[in-house]
Amino acid sequence: MSTTTTHHQDAVMDYDEALATFDPVMGLEVHVELHTNTKMFCGCPTEFGAEPNSQVCPVCLGLPGALPVVNEKAVESAIRIGLALNCEIASWCRFARKNYFYPDMPKNFQTSQYDEPIAFEGYLDVDLDDGTVYRVEIERAHMEEDTGKSLHIGGATGRIHGADHSLVDYNRAGIPLIEIVTKPLVGAGERAPEVARTYVAALRELLRALDVSDVKMEQGSMRCDANVSLRAKAGEPTSAEQLAVPLGTRTETKNVNSLRSVERAIRYEISRHAAVLAGGGSILQETRHWHEDTGVTTSGRVKSDADDYRYFPEPDLVPVAPSRELVDRLRGTLPEPPAERRKRLQNDWGYSDLEMRDVYNAGAAELIEQTVSAGASPSAARKWWLGEPSRRANAEATDLVSYAADLGFTPATVAELDSLVRSGRLNDSMAREVLGGVLDGEGGPTAVADARGLELKQDDGALEAAVDTVIAANPDVAAKIRDGKVAAAGALIGQVMKATKGQADAGKARELILGKLQ
Ligand code: ADP
Ligand code: MG
Ligand code: ZN
Repeated sequence: MSTTTTHHQDAVMDYDEALATFDPVMGLEVHVELHTNTKMFCGCPTEFGAEPNSQVCPVCLGLPGALPVVNEKAVESAIRIGLALNCEIASWCRFARKNYFYPDMPKNFQTSQYDEPIAFEGYLDVDLDDGTVYRVEIERAHMEEDTGKSLHIGGATGRIHGADHSLVDYNRAGIPLIEIVTKPLVGAGERAPEVARTYVAALRELLRALDVSDVKMEQGSMRCDANVSLRAKAGEPTSAEQLAVPLGTRTETKNVNSLRSVERAIRYEISRHAAVLAGGGSILQETRHWHEDTGVTTSGRVKSDADDYRYFPEPDLVPVAPSRELVDRLRGTLPEPPAERRKRLQNDWGYSDLEMRDVYNAGAAELIEQTVSAGASPSAARKWWLGEPSRRANAEATDLVSYAADLGFTPATVAELDSLVRSGRLNDSMAREVLGGVLDGEGGPTAVADARGLELKQDDGALEAAVDTVIAANPDVAAKIRDGKVAAAGALIGQVMKATKGQADAGKARELILGKLQ
């Protein structure tokens, strides 16, 4: 066995070798904070980033005698999420108390759902990079509340170990959460990490379309815990022999907060489990922490069984019993199913499969849709969004939507940039420069172009003279174009651009060249 040792001393097996020996199984638990105006069981505001402990009341602080009331909007969002995930909706369900002590949870129990989730037995189909579809089976989507946030002061790493003291902020305590739990996902084989990443991306897209959450992984409004186990390999991943092998022991890697980390963390855990199992060891059922910087997981706590939480039905809340009329009404508010929407958009925009995949991987579909509505061409919208803005979002380790929103860089801005190109005021390289200026915060496209004095020379006489000079200097190329080899015009256009120091409109130069030679 070829193993390498990380600085945490965990051996890992080469990924391909691990997959040749074992069959991976995953379970994904995704928590989404709903962006309701108020918390799950009280009227406190939910806005992110407020002064610590300024958004609290007796209910979310768990003071004696305070009584919770369920947030109707949150229940409706939960039902819409369940319906969008093709789940059944419970006609009657209750909240349950999940009992444990932790300082960020002032009630000493979390109001959650246990054996009676609001939504269950669904699925989400996700498109893999090779064009195949993987069906992610959903076990349940249930309602619960978020905890507060601890801040450990004085230690080097922000972790509790080595800290002098800790502070706790209860603003987040009681914010509505939906936890979406998959069944054990089998049959993905070596594509397990990709399935996980693509599922979380598709889920994020869906939740955004439902308009129920900010789904910002880097701010924690969408968080993923990744369970992984390995079992002996008995055949092809989807073969009957393989599916009959009992599941191995899983580990749960907590709070993996980017799409890339989801993929990397699962890949790492597969390699780590494989090394343990191949070495004759056994996997401990535990939670693990993902370290983005070093790309490894480390041991967390040994996982409690559900029994240890002493779940019992919440006595302070009435059961939730959505009527069929309500469920039907909510079904009518669902957005177009993501897979259909993707096909429709690809068709409308004329993108290749590869282009469409890049757009989805960049999380840019919505932005492009709005940019096209604002008047840009689909190809220009794709080009501008997937260029510099995506590069900068990546560099800042955020997603494109959040990056653009934080900057106030909107689809209308991109459409304005495109219109400057289409009207002939800017050529492509000028537009790139303008885009850089806009992203640097210098103002809108027109303002940046004005401030930097960027404008194509509208002097057609000068352009025509340049074209004549270039044609005269390249008789062989000119002859090819006369013979119908239109592609050869590129070489002449390049020289015209050079002669005019990039000031010419390449489209116009092309027209002139072809006009003179055909
Ligand atoms: P917990 O309370 O430990 O978080 P949950 O039921 O909420 O448990 O979630 C466990 C997740 O792990 C689910 O997605 C489930 O499908 C998945 N899972 C369960 N058993 C295994 C296993 N042996 N290997 C991989 N995933 C598993
Ligand atoms: Mg769980
Ligand atoms: Zn409150």
